[in-house]
Amino acid sequence: MSTENTEPEQLPDMIDFCLNVPLYKTFYFDKDYKLHQEKLREIFYFADGHLDCFCRECNKESVFHPEHKSDDQHFIVRYRNSEFQHVFTCTRNKNHKLFFLFLFHDWSITKIGQHPSLADLASVEIQKYRKVLGNESYAEFNRAVGLVTHGVGIGAFVYLRRIFENLIEEAHQGEMTTSGWDDGLYKKAHIEERITLLKNSLPNFLVENRSLYSILSKGIHELTESECLGAFPITKLGIELILDEKLEKLERDKKIKEASKGIGDLAKKLKS
Ligand SMILES: [Zn+2]
Repeated sequence: MSTENTEPEQLPDMIDFCLNVPLYKTFYFDKDYKLHQEKLREIFYFADGHLDCFCRECNKESVFHPEHKSDDQHFIVRYRNSEFQHVFTCTRNKNHKLFFLFLFHDWSITKIGQHPSLADLASVEIQKYRKVLGNESYAEFNRAVGLVTHGVGIGAFVYLRRIFENLIEEAHQGEMTTSGWDDGLYKKAHIEERITLLKNSLPNFLVENRSLYSILSKGIHELTESECLGAFPITKLGIELILDEKLEKLERDKKIKEASKGIGDLAKKLKS
């Protein structure tokens, strides 16, 4: 646990703290806790809140509600220098639970444990992409998401950038077969311009927000750990948008195949 940085930091909201903040990241707050009292109360009680999260046991998205804690005026004194936990229960089945353990110590709060792990929660969310990514890229995607949940930015970003570049290259290969394509222009272009040139093969969101992807052109030695962590969510979103379109196409093609077979069978039946 790092204790070097004692600058007060904005406390995360409870949903973020549980589902996005890696373990052992410590948030320091002013000793005048009145400033943070409401935020602290939310973290200690979270009485009206809920988590929207993938349930590994239902194998789909679910809503989790916190187990009740009785409110106490002196909660700061009661919990100071001790750990406290939150248990959330799946609305579909009360035996499906999420556990989070926090440490409130020396005017700081740290999440020191959780089950299932952030990596597990994140990896079930991306499982659906296995069939469009292939085994190798899927394993890299999984590794990237796992690393970032442990606060490892550069390593995670390298994997994600590779996958992103492969998907862009796939779109490029498709466009190359269309008439009027200028491959010389494409090869000279930076990532943002490449995304514009591939606009017919990429999701609109990606094309409209292409400036967000300029960081992909930077050499890995130029990037800091926090730049990589910062660029991770938008790069992941770009990848997911491309993959969502691929999944939709796969589903549509499957339906069309089934429908044409059904129509063929019916036509045969009607003839006989
Ligand atoms: Zn469940």
